[in-house]
Amino acid sequence: MPSVISKIKHIAELGASYALKLRRPMNPPYQFSIEATNRCNFKCQFCPQSNPKHKDIRPVGELTLENFQCFVKKVKEAGGSNRNLSICLDGEPLMNKAFPELIKITRQEGFFPRFSSNGRLLTPDMIERLAPYGFLASVDFSSDAEVFETIRGRKGDFEIILENLRYLVDKASKEPGVRVEIIDITHFSQGDAEASLKKMRGLFPEKIPPSVKFWSREFHNFGGHLDLQKQKTGYKLCPYPWTSFTATWDGNVVACCRDTEAKTILGNVFEQSVLEIWRGKPYQEMREHLAAKHPERVRACVKCDMPWSRGSKRWGIGYAVSSLLRR
Ligand code: SF4
Ligand code: SF4
Repeated sequence: MPSVISKIKHIAELGASYALKLRRPMNPPYQFSIEATNRCNFKCQFCPQSNPKHKDIRPVGELTLENFQCFVKKVKEAGGSNRNLSICLDGEPLMNKAFPELIKITRQEGFFPRFSSNGRLLTPDMIERLAPYGFLASVDFSSDAEVFETIRGRKGDFEIILENLRYLVDKASKEPGVRVEIIDITHFSQGDAEASLKKMRGLFPEKIPPSVKFWSREFHNFGGHLDLQKQKTGYKLCPYPWTSFTATWDGNVVACCRDTEAKTILGNVFEQSVLEIWRGKPYQEMREHLAAKHPERVRACVKCDMPWSRGSKRWGIGYAVSSLLRR
């Protein structure tokens, strides 16, 4: 467990590197993520997976245990003080049959695993397998079966996912290490966000532990798939290149967790060290372009709404720092 002093040092370096727009940050990355698989059993309307050509854009495959161990070793060598590790990027992580093993290794190596799932494979049996290690699962949901199944591109799953989530919420109230975020997506196609969130919250017991949270999804334009970048005003420097380090299942380090099509490849973590990539030329060039207010010069960022006022409400350096302090 990192000491308080190492956390403070990490935060100070991160804040200074971002504020000074350094091409070579003083800090190691804050948030590490690796993709379990880019296969998915859903085709959500807001996701590049709904593009029939998506599977041709990059190789489809799964993270192996050997490669995951290699990744975790390199993350440890890089230093840093955040013990959260995200095991997702594109795809449904539970489609990787080795997923429970990935969670086990994460915990054994001293990290806390987080992942996003569509909830279909997060069955009571799977929850029981994962619960002893502890994890944070984020799952998109809705109170309206028809809206939900239309947005997610698959019929007949609403009730199954609702039962899975009820089991998960119950588990979180008994196991302190199990944490859940249930995120309302109804307002992607209809209604107002506040009302639909309230309705979705009503599907679960009134009394829930603090480890269970409900909120509304803020949709963003990942992969340039949605037309959300209406106004290019209020440029705000994207914090990801100073904070996050995200790899695909085959080790390619990409611009950020929104770059699910690996448009910008910055190195390969199975072949290079984390800091070699983090301070390498491709990362430096990306930071330089974003600092100069030219996101259109970075393939992953061309259509991204994050640097503009629409896409940067929740994420910012303050959010990064407060998350770092929480663990
Ligand atoms: S949002 Fe997630 S569940 Fe939906 S298609 Fe994309 S990867 Fe699959
Ligand atoms: S601008 Fe968008 S695509 Fe580029 S690094 Fe930031 S969040 Fe990722």
